[in-house]
Amino acid sequence: MIGVEEASRLLDQYPGRFGSEKTPIADVLGRVLREDLIADRDFPPFDRVTMDGIGVDHTTFHPEKRYTVEGVAPAGSAQVTLKNREHCLEVMTGAITPHGVTAVVKYEDTERIGDQLAINLPNLQYRQNIHGKGSDRAKGDTIVKAGSIIGSAEIGIAATVGKHTLLTSRMPRVLVVSTGDELVPIEQTPAPHQIRSSNSSMIAAALRQHVGLVAATAHLTDDSGATEELIERNLAAFDVLIFLGGSSRGKFDFVPAALQRLGVTRHFYKVAQRPGKPFWFGSKTGACAVFALPGNPVSCLLCLTRYVIPWLRKGIGLPTVRKEAMLSTEVTFRPDLTYFAQVAITQDKDGTLAVPVEGHGSGDLANLCDASAFLELPPSQTVFDQGASYPYYSYR
Ligand code: AMP
Ligand code: MG
Repeated sequence: MIGVEEASRLLDQYPGRFGSEKTPIADVLGRVLREDLIADRDFPPFDRVTMDGIGVDHTTFHPEKRYTVEGVAPAGSAQVTLKNREHCLEVMTGAITPHGVTAVVKYEDTERIGDQLAINLPNLQYRQNIHGKGSDRAKGDTIVKAGSIIGSAEIGIAATVGKHTLLTSRMPRVLVVSTGDELVPIEQTPAPHQIRSSNSSMIAAALRQHVGLVAATAHLTDDSGATEELIERNLAAFDVLIFLGGSSRGKFDFVPAALQRLGVTRHFYKVAQRPGKPFWFGSKTGACAVFALPGNPVSCLLCLTRYVIPWLRKGIGLPTVRKEAMLSTEVTFRPDLTYFAQVAITQDKDGTLAVPVEGHGSGDLANLCDASAFLELPPSQTVFDQGASYPYYSYR
């Protein structure tokens, strides 16, 4: 059995490497960019009118000046010319500034007098309301760097520079496998000795929320042959297999032995923690990483939240921020194990508080809804003081 720190170290030693892939712009939100986004034109690409109004030669202006409208420059038309510098052109936001126009006056600052226009301003600034060509970024500039997380702003840039597909980190193909003869599908009414399978839906949702990936799911009965067959069939097809249950010491826990028989190298089995001790991690070189999480729902979600999600995020280039919270009350835990206390995280005037929400152990999945995170209390201590800070892992 290894400690929590050693488990983390071994996970780092066998990182996920999933490469990159071309992704349509509609699907890149939240992904990690794997190429620079470079301006293919100046930003903006021409002297852009920023207000609906009139364009004039600013040197002609004086407060009594009256302008005759010579024509219109709409957005989306080729550049026009102010032919008589004593006249004006009506110009629209997004239009290319006409030749001869050196200032734009918004309609609100103009007044119609007969069939001419007056400007109700004391003076005009040279190039007012003109967004200069290349004034934001020059053609060839890197606007978004590889490694950035793609949000709405980055998507706007991608579209502007003509990228309808982007090179992003490849999302690993993940298969979540529930195990157990006692489990029936959600839509079925369980017999008295059965329960509905909940872990795979819960774990798939957590992967969706915290990694942004859509996992495939499968179910295994407690059968050694079927377990081996499923592993063999899927080792090459997936980057990551996540087994739920079937990894403990029970007579029908076939997963760890089957994995080893099929050449998946075990990096660790059993972590000195509560909950979640029978946690297995291994890999088949160049093929697939495999996690076997304990089936008890609280243990299962803890192992996923504390280890698997950060591992997957790191593999695709997403950071995991270390967060700490202060215990709202003293906690005692005697066993020589890291204790992942279920806590509700709240904000208070002194900072982030972790309020213990104990529940009835690792099978109490209803308690997960009252809590929001696991607070990591190290094995070196027995009494954890009120006000002391510890790292926490939120599944919210
Ligand atoms: P195991 O790790 O297979 O020994 O399972 C431990 C406990 O978790 C047992 O009470 C199982 O019935 C329960 N369990 C295992 N898998 C699931 C699942 N997919 N959904 C709900 N409960 C499960
Ligand atoms: Mg089982």
